[in-house]
Amino acid sequence: MGVSMKQLLIGMIFMWLIPIGFIVLTVLGVAWLVRAVGGGANPAAPGHNCPSCHRATQTSWKHCPYCGTEMAA
Ligand SMILES: [Zn+2]
Repeated sequence: MGVSMKQLLIGMIFMWLIPIGFIVLTVLGVAWLVRAVGGGANPAAPGHNCPSCHRATQTSWKHCPYCGTEMAA
């Protein structure tokens, strides 16, 4: 009997750690990808236009730089 209880326990821990580590890394990678794609894909906020001259504007602008109309938040 060359395999001790301690060696068996260490072997079991590694057998579980490796697949669990892969699963955690995969979940974290997918979460990071979803956040990166969802947050960085539309920086210009499409569909947000000046109500007066209908030019593309940014949500942070309080007034339209083209005609001076106050923007609706
Ligand atoms: Zn305008």
